[in-house]
Amino acid sequence: MAIREGKWKCEFCGAENLGRDMKCGSCGAVRGENVKFYLDDNAAEVTDETLLNMAEAGADWHCDYCGTDNRADAGSCKQCGAPKDGMKSREEKHLSNDGTPLSGGSSVEFSENAPVKSSRKKAPAVIIAVIALAVIIGVASFLIFGGKEDVLVLDRGEWTRTVGVERQEWVEYTSWEDSVPSGASVLDRWEEQRGTEKIQTGTERVKVGTKDKGNGFFEDIYEDRPVYREQAVYDTKVRYEIVEWKEYREVKSAGGISDDPQWPDSELRYTDREGRKNETAVLFFHSTDPEQEGKVFTYDKLRPEDLASFEKGSQYPAEVIGTTVRKFLDE
Ligand SMILES: [Zn+2]
Ligand SMILES: [Zn+2]
Repeated sequence: MAIREGKWKCEFCGAENLGRDMKCGSCGAVRGENVKFYLDDNAAEVTDETLLNMAEAGADWHCDYCGTDNRADAGSCKQCGAPKDGMKSREEKHLSNDGTPLSGGSSVEFSENAPVKSSRKKAPAVIIAVIALAVIIGVASFLIFGGKEDVLVLDRGEWTRTVGVERQEWVEYTSWEDSVPSGASVLDRWEEQRGTEKIQTGTERVKVGTKDKGNGFFEDIYEDRPVYREQAVYDTKVRYEIVEWKEYREVKSAGGISDDPQWPDSELRYTDREGRKNETAVLFFHSTDPEQEGKVFTYDKLRPEDLASFEKGSQYPAEVIGTTVRKFLDE
C-alpha cells in the first residue's frame, strides 16, 4: 500500500508544486479544476502520518464559486465559505505503469507493449501480397497450361502391371505404454521423462500501476500473480514387437500396344497375400511438324486396356505442352 506524493504544474506561472499544495507556492494562484497530478518515477514513499491521513481522506472537491480545491473532509470552502453540497469531487483514476488509464481496478491485466496496432497495420500488406500472388499464378498457369496444337504420329505404346506380394513379419517398435497396439508382444519396459508440467508454488505481488487518488497523492496498485515451477513428468516406455504384413517381393508383367494386358502371376506361397497393385500405360509419338523433328511426345493419362483403341502409324491431332500430350483433339 505504498502511497507517494504527486506534483502539479501551475497554469499561470508554470511553477511545480507538491500534490498537497492548494495554492501555487510561486504566484499564489489556486490549484484549478483542470490541473492534472503527475508522479515522478523516483517519488519516495510517504511515511508521515499527517500526509498519509490526507492521502486516505478521499478525492478533493472543487468550489464552483471561487475556484479553490478543498480537502474531502472540509464541509465548506476554506476560501469563500460555500457549502460542499453539490460541488464536484476530483476524479480517482487507475493508471498503468506507463501512465495510461487502467479501466476498472487491480484485476485488469495489461501488457507493456501493445501488439494490436502493429498487426492492424500489416493487414493491407498481406492483402496486397495475396493479390500479387494470385496474379502471378494466373499468368504462370496461362503460360504453362496454354498448350499448342500439333498433329502426332503414334510410334509405340507400353504398359506395365505390378503386384506387391506380402508376408507376415515380426516388427519391433518403441512407444509409450498407452499407445501400444493390441496383439503386441512386450519385450522391455522402463521409465522415461515424457514432458513437464507447471506446478504453482505460490504467488507474487506485482506492481501493475498506480491510482491517482484525486488529492495530490498516488497509491501503487498491486496484483497477485501465480508463480510456477516446471516439473518433469515420467511415464512408462515400452519396446514391443507385433506381426505386420510387409511387402517382400514384387511381380511384374509388361507389354506393347498389341499385347493383351494381363496381371502377373503372383505365385502365392503358404503365408503370402497380394498387396498393392499398380498399372501404367504410355503412348509415344513423333510430330508431323518438321520443326519438331527428333522430339518424343508422350501421353500417359490412360489405362493398359485403352492402348488397344490406338493404332501404330496413325495420325492424332493433339494439344501439346512441351513434349507432353495434354489431350487429343477430335478431327
Ligand atoms: Zn503559479
Ligand atoms: Zn470557494
